[in-house]
Amino acid sequence: MATIQTVTGPIDSAELGRTLMHEHLTVGYPGWDSATDEPWNPVEAKAICVDRIAELQDLGYSTLIDPCPGDLGRDPALLVEVAEATGFNIVCAAGLYKEHEGGAAHWQFRARFEDVVGPMTDLFVGELTDGIGSTGVRPGMLKVGTGTEAVTDHEQRVFAAAAAASAATGTPITTHTEDGQLGPTQVEILTAAGVDPHRLVIGHSCGTTDHDTHMAIAGAGAYLGFDRFGIPVMADEDRVASLVKVVAAGAGDRVVVSHDSVWCWKGNPWPKALRAQAAATMVPTVFDAKIVPMLTDAGVSDEQIRAFTWDNPRRFFAGEPLGPLGPSETA
Ligand SMILES: [Zn+2]
Repeated sequence: MATIQTVTGPIDSAELGRTLMHEHLTVGYPGWDSATDEPWNPVEAKAICVDRIAELQDLGYSTLIDPCPGDLGRDPALLVEVAEATGFNIVCAAGLYKEHEGGAAHWQFRARFEDVVGPMTDLFVGELTDGIGSTGVRPGMLKVGTGTEAVTDHEQRVFAAAAAASAATGTPITTHTEDGQLGPTQVEILTAAGVDPHRLVIGHSCGTTDHDTHMAIAGAGAYLGFDRFGIPVMADEDRVASLVKVVAAGAGDRVVVSHDSVWCWKGNPWPKALRAQAAATMVPTVFDAKIVPMLTDAGVSDEQIRAFTWDNPRRFFAGEPLGPLGPSETA
């Protein structure tokens, strides 16, 4: 067992219950506050989030991770309000997003004058230990990310700082990949920096159908995030087919599932004509409504399906080492 920091205080890993590992109450791309014609309405946002959580509670969930990094519109006060209103466990993150869509400008300015890995590490450790700013809200995860093709200098610094903060505090790490690209590289960088692979979720691994990529991550002992069910950048049929292969290869014990749904956008970046469609698509109930029946039809056992939202998140947060890849359980 291990202690997990939720936004409303510590819980034991045994208390996690049914868990979604990657959803967002809010996201705001850096620059969102320049869209002053799209004012942020925290009252409306809270109401939307409370409704969404009620849907999850009806499905038997009791915990979600909102791994919004510190430069992507993270909103600890909203998370606390929603957690208190619903009794739901919400875990937030310390860390920084990929360079291309994150808040790199601040850190690149500083990096002209000093090595920023130290100050970045201090920031992450401070948030994890004492809370985010003056809020008192302590993250329970670290979040890092990469883009396409290569890990940038800024991202290398973020990874180094996150690895150091993980070592200092025992906090696990979840990542953003661009559709699984650089996933195995992320594992290599973080494990070389001393992070145990079973403390890593390589996010958005479901964005590629490349089985070798999945098995490189799983074989290294890290968790795969099949965490974008419902997002129409690819067909859910393709995500499910990949997941069935991963399970058949004995890696079902290291897969976590989610939707990467965003419930409230700061400075709404969606064109007005697409907003209703985006909101209808980005919901955290697709796994239960659509994916579970598809997995069952594909021969994945009820026990394995249950593990994706119960045993695997609990084992991840408890920090239990993973064994070697298990035997195949499906045809
Ligand atoms: Zn996300």
